[in-house]
Amino acid sequence: MIEISHLVKRYGAKFAVDDISFSVGKGEIVGFLGPNGAGKSTTMNILTGYLSSTSGTATVGGIDILENPYEAKKLIGFLPEQPPLYVDMKVDEYLNFIYELKKCKLNREKHLAEVCEVTKISDVRGRMIKNLSKGYKQRVGIAQALIGNPKVLIFDEPTVGLDPKQIIEIRNLIRNLGTDHTIILSTHILPEVQAVCDRIVIINQGRLIADEKTENITRVVEENRLYSVKVCGPQREVLSVLSKVPGVVRADAVGERELDSFTYHIESEPGVDVRKPLFFALSEHNWPIIGLEAVGMSLEDVFMKLMDADAKKKQRASQNRAGARDNR
Ligand code: ADP
Repeated sequence: MIEISHLVKRYGAKFAVDDISFSVGKGEIVGFLGPNGAGKSTTMNILTGYLSSTSGTATVGGIDILENPYEAKKLIGFLPEQPPLYVDMKVDEYLNFIYELKKCKLNREKHLAEVCEVTKISDVRGRMIKNLSKGYKQRVGIAQALIGNPKVLIFDEPTVGLDPKQIIEIRNLIRNLGTDHTIILSTHILPEVQAVCDRIVIINQGRLIADEKTENITRVVEENRLYSVKVCGPQREVLSVLSKVPGVVRADAVGERELDSFTYHIESEPGVDVRKPLFFALSEHNWPIIGLEAVGMSLEDVFMKLMDADAKKKQRASQNRAGARDNR
């Protein structure tokens, strides 16, 4: 449904997007992930026809966005990071305005009612946009993207600035939309894509560093588990026992004493679950565990792991090439 091939966007000597290729199949929800400045907005702006590329192609439904922007744009609903809302309009006025702007041919009343129903804004249609909560404003932003029934939806950081309840609501809405839309969701929040997406594309400094099924990224996160454990007992001795538990590669004492307990951070070997050996090792000394929780890897940690793997792969490839040359 979406094909991006060798896409490049250069500003002077700087490559905002540097030879990126990936595709998104029909009905797929793909997370587009990267730190700030990675090139996500640039890619999405090219894909939605707001920006031209330096080279490479981007097609939607087989239509080249540069050659045929008008036809391609009809297939895409876009929610930019700053939704284009006219805050002095009522919700209904605004949706009608977008309907006109998109030259939508669907039955107006029925279509707008459906869009409001899906995004759960039917009860605020008569209200001024400026008086809505941020969560509702975001829903109105999603509603404008849905007008005209585009098959492809592109959401840029859709949950930034929302409170936890609103975040869950918007994620659920996106997941539901995924049943009959192809979606690209850009974010720098790892749990967000894990919660919503089938596949994750990660870019860094304009280059693609991973294109993986969500479960593979989740495996990287889970295999490199960090735990925070709170143990009652003498700090130095506990630390010494913790660092010798099979599967533990690192143990650090952190935080304050709380009554007779201290908190420790523990890193395990990839793929090893250290929780049970941890329990038995400490119970041998009668030191109770009064808290144990997994500390998720941050997006930065995942980047580091993936970039590390990427660098090793490149190094191996270049060694193989050198080896092949030597053998000639
Ligand atoms: P992201 O959305 O991942 O945060 P962007 O696509 O906004 O990243 O930006 C990618 C890189 O391109 C950044 O280093 C940014 O400074 C640069 N960039 C973006 N737009 C312009 C521009 N108009 N002129 C020069 N550099 C730009």
